Amino acid sequence: MCEFGDLKMKIINLNHIVFKIVILFILAFICVHPSIAQNYFRYPLDSLPNFVSPFGGLRDNHFHSGIDLKTNEREGLPVYASADGYISRIKIQSIGYGKAIYIDHPNAYTTVYGHLQKYHGKIAEWIHNYQYKNQTFEFDKVFDKPVLFVKNGDTIGFSGNSGGSTGPHLHFEIRNTKTEAIMNPAVFGILPFDTLRPTIQKLYIYSFKADAANIAKEIELNKNNTIKTDSAWILKDTINLDFNYFGLGIETYDLIHNSKDHKNIYSYETYLDAKNIFSFKLNQFAFDQSKFINAHIDYDYYKRNQIRIQKCFLDDGNEIPFYSYDKNKGRISLSDRGVHELKIRVSDAEANSVELIFYVKSKKAIVTRKVQQIDKVFYPLKSNDIRQKDFVFHLDAKSIYDTIFYEFKVSPKVKNTYSKTYQIHNYFTPLHKSAEIAIKPIKVKKEYEDKLLLAYFDKNDKKYRATGGVYEKGFVRGKASVFGSYFVSIDTVAPSIERVFINKENPSVDTMYWHFEVKDNFSGVGKYEAYLNGKWIMLDYDAKSNMLSYKFDEIYFEFLIENMKRINHNLPFVKPELLLRVYDKKGNKAEYISNINL
Ligand SMILES: [Zn+2]
Repeated sequence: MCEFGDLKMKIINLNHIVFKIVILFILAFICVHPSIAQNYFRYPLDSLPNFVSPFGGLRDNHFHSGIDLKTNEREGLPVYASADGYISRIKIQSIGYGKAIYIDHPNAYTTVYGHLQKYHGKIAEWIHNYQYKNQTFEFDKVFDKPVLFVKNGDTIGFSGNSGGSTGPHLHFEIRNTKTEAIMNPAVFGILPFDTLRPTIQKLYIYSFKADAANIAKEIELNKNNTIKTDSAWILKDTINLDFNYFGLGIETYDLIHNSKDHKNIYSYETYLDAKNIFSFKLNQFAFDQSKFINAHIDYDYYKRNQIRIQKCFLDDGNEIPFYSYDKNKGRISLSDRGVHELKIRVSDAEANSVELIFYVKSKKAIVTRKVQQIDKVFYPLKSNDIRQKDFVFHLDAKSIYDTIFYEFKVSPKVKNTYSKTYQIHNYFTPLHKSAEIAIKPIKVKKEYEDKLLLAYFDKNDKKYRATGGVYEKGFVRGKASVFGSYFVSIDTVAPSIERVFINKENPSVDTMYWHFEVKDNFSGVGKYEAYLNGKWIMLDYDAKSNMLSYKFDEIYFEFLIENMKRINHNLPFVKPELLLRVYDKKGNKAEYISNINL
């Protein structure tokens, strides 16, 4: 009996263990492959899907990581939780996503809502308390355990224009919760209605000489040189090339119903004699891969002409997982003088596509390997340095996409600078990671040492910008995010503070706010703090409009109640005393003290 009981228990335990293992396997599978169920996520606004900017949009230094949803150029539209879940992160910044919310969902994805005007209900309450408790407007709170739960369709906030936004819209993202990979919402079925095909404006042919790609031909597609059917465009004339090793590039965009805006396309594929040699598809990417946009496009051409050519071949240093390709990574090498067919198919996320077909013929290869100076070379996979007595420039491995034969020039110190000027290469070549840079300044008084910073010239070499840095052991050390001309400068000027009325014609409209315009001439606005009658108050800071705003809250209302009591006791009304301090990034301080008018 007893033995049988033991055996039964063992079987039950064994079953239990097997059951646990099976569950673990299922969980592990879900973690690695969260389900991409269509219609799991609702559109977070009341309208039908309507995008200002689609996923993966080509931007300066990044691919757009979400979709921008149209709010009809208005702020204040209710924003809804896209599915059940809990708030996993709240981030408020004066730049970037501005006021943002992250919601984790049981399907192992996270939705993100950015540029909100304000938050709603219990979320707004929680944030206000948190800001007062920590005396900060800007914060980034990641929740270790769920505190605020939401249901599909709950109002979480209102659409706005906060942070780096350049017009009212809702920024919406779907991420894999575990890996943080950013997903194209189209794969979840979040798509606008669209039956228009994309269009290709120009075809570019690059020749490779000394391994550098140079534009050899630029062909604008028009009705004279192209036969257009609904789904295919054929170039009438065969293209004759006087080289046999080349790559392709396209200027292309998508058209969307009821929108005059041009959008980026979702995918493209290149075929050589009907064989697929290169494909690009915008499905998902990791945050730190976004800067590979500068290797995806012809960066030099973009910097010179503000036009983004999308390349149909891969730079060695480009690691973003958008591509599949043959052994030559999309580079085409013709070994005969025959006519070859090339085809590029461009598609949008709604599966509308267009094909460009053309024929090329190549002469025998001409070997024109240019003799390069080989003393000044940066290599993509190695770390690279320029070291001099008064100057250090350091690039980590994988900071550049391709071999660079760089320019380097040292110029003597000129007026209003505090060091020599060091020109490191030029503005037309991208940097993937910031370089470390150290420049020895001229001798300054001890009290000015911590006011020194690095500055660089922009593309026109006329205006220079601050790029930060600190004085340390005789050098000013900082980061360089672009190639250019660097030198040491100084910032001893405090920011300016001015009370403004948003509605200048009618200041009485500003009855719930105090607004202050804060500006800094060079290093930029850093810390800020304000006190009303000695009590810390929360200011909302919008960097793009240089605006600090106080929305009347309990601190102000407390003061009003105190004043009411004074009046009841026949005591005079006291004006509120406001102290506002703004520092720039070099610690120069401005103060605004005022018995402010109500
Ligand atoms: Zn966006």
